[in-house]
Amino acid sequence: MSDGRALARQYLEQQRLLGGDPVILSDSRTVGQSDRTPEAALSLPSDRPTVRPSDGISYDPPGADLFAADPISQAASLAGVATLVAACTKCRLCEGRRHTVPGEGPDDARLVVVGEGPGRVEDETGRPFVGPAGELLTKILAAIELPRERVFICNIVKCRPPENRQPQYDEIAACVPYLQRQLELLKPKVILAMGGTAAQTLLNTKQSLGSLRNQIHRFRGTPVIVTYHPAALLRNPNWKRPTWDDVRIARRLLD
Ligand code: URA
Ligand code: SF4
Repeated sequence: MSDGRALARQYLEQQRLLGGDPVILSDSRTVGQSDRTPEAALSLPSDRPTVRPSDGISYDPPGADLFAADPISQAASLAGVATLVAACTKCRLCEGRRHTVPGEGPDDARLVVVGEGPGRVEDETGRPFVGPAGELLTKILAAIELPRERVFICNIVKCRPPENRQPQYDEIAACVPYLQRQLELLKPKVILAMGGTAAQTLLNTKQSLGSLRNQIHRFRGTPVIVTYHPAALLRNPNWKRPTWDDVRIARRLLD
């Protein structure tokens, strides 16, 4: 047995004695067994146990009122939401956009990935996560055996902020009803919030990304897992391992 496994076993035994959180053991595949294992795909070892995270924030914004005149809350389908987004001028981000990027994926997707906002390639194509960060996201999803075609992928704001700056508070407030309606229509089993903007918006908090990781939060009852944004991973590969831990938890919640 490797030192890592011995240490992990000792840790688990300690946790048991101390009455710690319940533990989910990873399956027994090891690196090198097959290039197709999720861990191998992200170049990460597979012999670490996953401790089930504790419950976090539960945020319940009021649901859409079907009797209200608001067209967003009345949109009957994801395509209907996209049509409204295409014509939207509710915030200043409409001024510089080439295309709106409402999000894409099947309407029965069980996982919804939420990023921050479109970048340059997304603005040019109208599709979410198709630039360099998107390529990494596609790999991350493949690593948990979820082809990106089976996931609904979208952002907090649907138009590109100039120079890829962070969306401002009023822009987020103007745009978030579209995301809320998308989530109401999709009813996913799990939401993966990538980056601080997605996490803080969905959970209505200013807490840092670091403090929001490792917990199972809820948005209107749906579990929300918080992890790093793929663009941040491209800048800081040290975050790959914690990201892997997070997406693995999201994957387990889907099963
Ligand atoms: N970053 C995001 O947050 N969203 C995208 O769609 C692309 C990059
Ligand atoms: Fe409308 Fe959202 Fe685009 Fe602002 S970012 S114009 S609210 S779709």
